[in-house]
Amino acid sequence: MAVVEDKRTKLDQIQAEILAKDVCPDLAKQATQLVFGDGNPDADIVFIGEAPGKNEDLQGIPFVGAAGKFLNEMLAMIDLSREDIYITNIVKYRPPDNRDPLPEEKAAFLPYLQAQLGVIQPKIVVTLGRHSLNCFLPDLQISQVHGQPKRYKGLVYLPLFHPAAALYNGGMRQTLIDDFIRIPIIIKKLEPAAKAGSKEGKQ
Ligand code: URA
Repeated sequence: MAVVEDKRTKLDQIQAEILAKDVCPDLAKQATQLVFGDGNPDADIVFIGEAPGKNEDLQGIPFVGAAGKFLNEMLAMIDLSREDIYITNIVKYRPPDNRDPLPEEKAAFLPYLQAQLGVIQPKIVVTLGRHSLNCFLPDLQISQVHGQPKRYKGLVYLPLFHPAAALYNGGMRQTLIDDFIRIPIIIKKLEPAAKAGSKEGKQ
């Protein structure tokens, strides 16, 4: 439990730093609140979306709207719940009218996202949608690499379609589900490599 509490404290410090440094003040002014992240600070899997929408902005929690409900359903398919995973977004304030986040907004939040990953040290980072994928792996196209784990700078990324995009597109929805339910198999295959830098070894 001490590990979880320690990680939670460190995540709280990152959140406080975003507020203290007034990251993206224009976005902050128009948003209800910062949507920092939610879930288990010691999770094996971290999901990264794009930016909060209306419901997330109101509740201060990522993925609580329709896309979040679909995500929760897919988590249940692999016997996981929101308490088992950690979830956040690249951009942590709602962009006005749900517009795409701007390159400078993504760049401004990236160091804090990387700091979150540094604290959590997940086995796998699941990027949801092209904005999230291209923050880490700018040269890859989601349509070509979805479902394929990619090792980069000491972390393993699994690019998936964004649940909001897949929600009302039957073909993409099934592809996302097919990719999603392979997450446990992918993690299992990573295990020998993950052991060398296992969470125990990193204390
Ligand atoms: N879409 C996202 O990318 N993030 C959220 O938090 C909600 C919807």
